[in-house]
Order: sequence, then C-alpha cells, then structure tokens
Amino acid sequence: MRFYVAGGCCEYGCNCFLLEGKEYSVLVDCGAGTGGEERPPLLTEEQVSRVRYLFLTHSHRDHGGSLDWLWDQGFQGKIYLTAETEEQLGWQRVSIHVLEINEPSNNQVVVDELLTATYGRSGHCLGSVWYLLEFEDKRIFFSGDYCEHSPVYQWDPASGTRCDLAVVDCAYGDEKEDGEGMRRKIQRRLEQAVWKENSLLLPAPAVGRGVDLLLLGMGCKKEVPVFADKKVIDQVKKLYQKRKWRRCGDRLLEQALECKDLDCWNGETGILILSDPQLAAKESRKLAEQVWERQGNIVFTGHVYEGTYGAQMRSTGKAEFLRYPVHMNWEEAQKFCKRNDFHKIVLNHCASRIAGAEGTICMKRGDGIEI
Ligand SMILES: [Zn+2]
Ligand SMILES: [Zn+2]
Repeated sequence: MRFYVAGGCCEYGCNCFLLEGKEYSVLVDCGAGTGGEERPPLLTEEQVSRVRYLFLTHSHRDHGGSLDWLWDQGFQGKIYLTAETEEQLGWQRVSIHVLEINEPSNNQVVVDELLTATYGRSGHCLGSVWYLLEFEDKRIFFSGDYCEHSPVYQWDPASGTRCDLAVVDCAYGDEKEDGEGMRRKIQRRLEQAVWKENSLLLPAPAVGRGVDLLLLGMGCKKEVPVFADKKVIDQVKKLYQKRKWRRCGDRLLEQALECKDLDCWNGETGILILSDPQLAAKESRKLAEQVWERQGNIVFTGHVYEGTYGAQMRSTGKAEFLRYPVHMNWEEAQKFCKRNDFHKIVLNHCASRIAGAEGTICMKRGDGIEI
C-alpha cells in the first residue's frame, strides 16, 4: 500500500492524505491552504477517481476547505464524518455516513470487507475525531488535530495502538512551552488587561478555541464585561446540549451564556471574542481599529496566515500573539507516540521540518512511501 501526502506536511494548512490500496484509495481530510493563498491538495484527477471513501477529522478549513474542489475533480465517494462536523460544514450534497460517538469509547464502523475504521474524540473542537483505519492488510492511524489537555473538549486517549503508519499532529513543532504554560500566559494577559482597564480583542474560530477564550474571559478575578459574537455564543449553546463532547460542567457554560452580544459593544472596557481568526471581514477590521484607537489591544491566539489582515496587524506591531493550545508540540507528540506502537511516524501540521524529531519520516506535499 502506498501512503501519499497531498498536503499538510511541512506546511501549515491543506491537510490531505491518500492511502492507495490495491482495489481503491481512501482519503483522510481535504483541506485548503488558508490565508492569502487558495491552494487545493496536490491530487490528480486519476488519483481522485480511485477514492472510494473520504474520512474527515473535523470541519476546520485546513481539513475540509477543499471539498467543493474535490467534487469538481470528479469525486464520487462516500464521506465519513461526525454529525457535528457535518452540521458545521453545511455540506449535504453527497453520500454521507454519520459517525456516532458512544460512551465508553468503543467506536467502530465496518465500511466493507477491506476497510474498518475505529475512531475517537480528539479534544480539539466540537466534532473532531482521530481514526485508526484497518485497510487491506495494513493499520494506519490519523490523529487529526489532537489535544489532550483541553478544559473544554473531551477526548478519547489513543493508547496501546499498534499500526504500520501513524500521521501525528505536531503543529507546534519544537516549541518548548507545553499547553498548560500557554494557557496560563493567556490567563495572565487577560487579568492584566482587566486590571489596567484596557479592552482586549481576541479573534478566534467559533468552532474550537473561541469557546475556551470566552470561558477564560468570564473567569477573570475582577469582573469585566465579556462580549462574544453570535457564532461563538451559538457554539456555547451547542456544547451545552452535547454533553459527551465536553469536559466542562453545565455551570461554567451557563455562566458563559451570560456574556454580552458583541454587536452591542460601545467602546467600553471589555474582553471581546470575535469569530474571525484572521480578521478577514471588513467589519472585523473596523472593530480591530476601534479597539486600537481606544488604547485596547488585539491578541491573536492561533496561527496567523501570511497575506491576511491579521498578519499585517502583527507585522506593524498593532497586535500581539499568545498561543492558545489546541494541538501538540514535539514533546507532547513524542510522549503520545511512545504510548502507542507506531511502526512508521509522519508528523503533520508543522510548517517546517522539526530538527531532532528522531524516529519520524519527514514528508512534504507530493511525497509518497510504501507501507
Ligand atoms: Zn483544526
Ligand atoms: Zn488543522
């Protein structure tokens, strides 16, 4: 069997992996290059025509942003995804199999006589999963975007998994700070802003860390108005209903729902959660300028793509960067791999090769290996 990287290794974005079996191919994720660059995965029409099944790990653009493109290339296969991912994508025009999450975690689907998929929650956002595919005579693991310390999202820790190849999230590369440390820094920054009575604007995706940031804001020691836009509030409501996807209790989410609507912000001191992570929309840019003019600060908490307005604000010193952890760094990925029995390991989601990542195979888009 051949494993082929159509995108997502040695680059940030465009995650897409192909397993070329004897009978047919299986695709995992079909992301887009994000930011200034609209780049689909590197797949030929012939490769697409052999794909019988596509497994989506979650709805973020860098994993599901090229679905329309895939369709245009002639894709006629079946898509496996969770109900939450389906809802977030709002994409209902093809044959879809919705994966159920059962507790305790023993989630498996027999696709056909050649393929069985085991899956579990990956702790990254509502609806995100990892997969272990048993395809023909091989076992291949995909972590998806993976986080084992989210205070908000639940995960099923993959342990003791034996497989021929594992594709493991290592988005934070050789960054030394672990998730707990990153989270503490953001919390301190919020407290500092609140005490100094400065506003803070935090652009973040609603699906994922937008909810985390809202909870952090609501938990500040000194009370300050916290504003969130409708998409973020909507995610909190969804999470409230979907108990099996979350770690946080009812009380915390009820508290979060007491936040104010961002449309009602009038320039007063507050923490502002905006679901536009790159400040792509005109209204978001206007809001960022208003915060800046009022001596407030803009803090990005996730990857800022080149060529975006967000990148421009950062390069002109108008915005700060403090990472909110929703992926793994090399140290965490290493521990994760040691808990499992992975014969070959390929790291994904990291913009460049990680020096000293021993025991891993460095691949980039367009590369393929036999497994
Ligand atoms: Zn993601
Ligand atoms: Zn991602």
